Amino acid sequence: MSDCLFCRIAAGEIPCRKVYEDDELLAFHDINPAAPVHFMIVPKEHVDSLGECHARHELLLGRILLLAPLLAKEQGLSDGFKTVINTGKGGGQVVMHLHVHVIGGGKLSHL
Ligand code: AMP
Ligand code: ZN
Repeated sequence: MSDCLFCRIAAGEIPCRKVYEDDELLAFHDINPAAPVHFMIVPKEHVDSLGECHARHELLLGRILLLAPLLAKEQGLSDGFKTVINTGKGGGQVVMHLHVHVIGGGKLSHL
């Protein structure tokens, strides 16, 4: 059994409030939302962070980014949204499994 939180969520071992799922990707609401809408998109395959991505992850990264606006719209963010990718300890990443935050619906910080 993996000790990675998001791998365990992707495997269905830990529940989440699912937004979207396909063979490669899972999106679920953040447990501690920073705004009225706050979910994240994660690859089911474990990758530590954006800093550990290579050329073979090109398609996966593209799919994650193209999914973000579709799901944001579905979640009611018709005006736009913020995407955040924290990378590594210095980037404030807490869960070491690549994830893209999608945030909106309230007043957001500029960065
Ligand atoms: P980061 O700082 O980019 O690594 O963000 C990790 C995010 O995961 C935080 O916003 C947490 O609120 C969120 N989080 C932690 N545990 C869970 C969980 N079990 N389900 C959903 N989101 C979680
Ligand atoms: Zn993982």
